[in-house]
Amino acid sequence: MIFVTGGAGYIGSHTCVELLMAGHDVTVYDNFSNSQWEATERVQRIAGRTMAVVRGDIRDGAALQAALHASGAKAVVHFAGLKAVGESEAEPLKYYDNNVLGTVRLLEAMAACGVKTLVFSSSATVYGVPEVLPYREDHRLSATNTYGMTKLVVENMLRDLHRSDADWRIGILRYFNPVGAHSSGLIGEDPQGTPNNLMPYVAQVAVGRREFLNVWGNDYPTPDGTGVRDYIHVVDLALGHVKALDYLGANTGCVSVNLGAGVGHSVLDMVRSFEAASGRPVPFKVGPRRAGDLDAYWADASLAQALFGWRVERGLDVMCEDTWRWQNMNPNGYKGEK
Ligand code: NAD
Ligand code: UDP
Repeated sequence: MIFVTGGAGYIGSHTCVELLMAGHDVTVYDNFSNSQWEATERVQRIAGRTMAVVRGDIRDGAALQAALHASGAKAVVHFAGLKAVGESEAEPLKYYDNNVLGTVRLLEAMAACGVKTLVFSSSATVYGVPEVLPYREDHRLSATNTYGMTKLVVENMLRDLHRSDADWRIGILRYFNPVGAHSSGLIGEDPQGTPNNLMPYVAQVAVGRREFLNVWGNDYPTPDGTGVRDYIHVVDLALGHVKALDYLGANTGCVSVNLGAGVGHSVLDMVRSFEAASGRPVPFKVGPRRAGDLDAYWADASLAQALFGWRVERGLDVMCEDTWRWQNMNPNGYKGEK
């Protein structure tokens, strides 16, 4: 049994599908602050198996511990958290409360239940400004915004915890840019309001919900002047969690591992690829650089392959095709008409 905090969210829902398909039993624990119950129903439909779903907040230590105990889980995958960089700058305490204190409560509940295997959702943002590319796991760590700082604080906390008690088995997974959707078109990313991220914005332009894409800068020192990122299909990312759990089942330690494709794509690569996948135009206008954006970064993904035997299998074309299917089948996300 795997206990999945934030399992109703974008990455969590895809990971639950892959955990169920791999034969794991799953309990989701989510407060639905940024997700819909419907996603958990669809996960079970895709996998053809049931899972337990508990509505609860990770900051509610008593409820969390009771749910973890009742689940009988042997390991936790911890997705629950807030992730909007802009909001984290405006409301830092909300982010420290949810992401840091929520994780403290989770670790306490795990310790109380004798569950000492954890996979944690970290982010490439902990590398800060690149000194060398691609980012390797031993790159210097720093944070350029509050959201990134909450990830870094939790990473440090996990390393300290492991140093205090070597029975913990901890996988810190540093995601690059997750995009795409399950090939069924039943689950995908369902951002509330105007999307901040490139892929959901492009998808909404292609489906006609928004007029054009704002390209944030075309004067970066990159091949076409637009920002370069390492996009990773969310199903490949989900499979990385299954592999990480397998690894932690056989190895003690606290490991930090990049989950990325190991290649960079520009904003205009994404636009072209999405046009090809959808058969629709994606009009864009070039605007100024977005504050705080880095010009380019991508992962050295070799450690994940060496430790977990994992590498990505889905390219940018599949990321776009699957996003388009999800967008077309659910033009207004899980809630239908908005
Ligand atoms: P998401 O918002 O779709 O999923 C997070 C889930 O956690 C949601 O279902 C939300 O309702 C739940 N949640 C939030 N606070 C909670 C709380 N206090 N108690 C219980 N549940 C709570 O986000 P996602 O994209 O699936 O991201 C999952 C994790 O991966 C997050 O920790 C995020 O920071 C991290 N991450 C995401 C990205 C990305 O680009 N999506 C990149 C790097 C890291
Ligand atoms: N981007 C853009 N227009 C948008 C959203 C994003 O041009 O509406 C660019 C952004 O400047 C960056 C890339 O797309 O170069 C990826 O941005 P995203 O927000 O998806 O990821 P992050 O910047 O967090 O890596």
